[in-house]
Amino acid sequence: MQEPAGVFVVRHITGVEREGPSEVVVELSCGHHRHVRHRPPLTEHPWVLDDATTHARIGGEIECFACGQRSLPSGAEAYRSTRSFDEHGVPSGLLGEHTTKDGVWGRLQVETGELWVEFAPPLSVMVRGRPSVPVVIPPSIVHHVRLAGPVRFHVEFLRVPAQTG
Ligand SMILES: [Zn+2]
Repeated sequence: MQEPAGVFVVRHITGVEREGPSEVVVELSCGHHRHVRHRPPLTEHPWVLDDATTHARIGGEIECFACGQRSLPSGAEAYRSTRSFDEHGVPSGLLGEHTTKDGVWGRLQVETGELWVEFAPPLSVMVRGRPSVPVVIPPSIVHHVRLAGPVRFHVEFLRVPAQTG
C-alpha cells in the first residue's frame, strides 16, 4: 500500500462524501478533508467502493497528512484570544507540555522578538515564531513554548464551524 509520504497525525473520521465510484472525501476531527481512493496497486482502500462500508468508517481513524504539515484547515475561524504576554509573564502552562482540545487549533502570534514552539511526536519538530510568521498548532498535539529572549506574543484559538449534512 502506497500512501503520500511524510508526517501524519491520526484523526477520527467525522463524515464521508462520495466523489466517484472509487473515491470518497472524508471529514476529519481536525477540520481537514482528505480524498481517499481505491486504485490498486498504488493505493488500496477497498472500503471506499461501497456506501455501507464507507459509512461504517465514521468514528474510525485515518492518517491526516495536512496535520503533519501543520496546515490550518480552510474555514477555520478564530473564536478566542489570550492577552498579550512578555517573557516575564508567560503562564507556566504554556512553558510545560500541553495540548489543545480535539478540533481546536492554536495560532501563536509573535508581536515582537521571537520564541520557539517544540512539538512532541508525531510532529517532532521545533518551530520558530517571529512577527508575521505565526506558529500554527494542530489540535491535540503535545507542545510547549521555549523562550529565546525578549518577546511579546498572544495565542488565538480557532476551529472549523460545524458542517451540516
Ligand atoms: Zn488534519
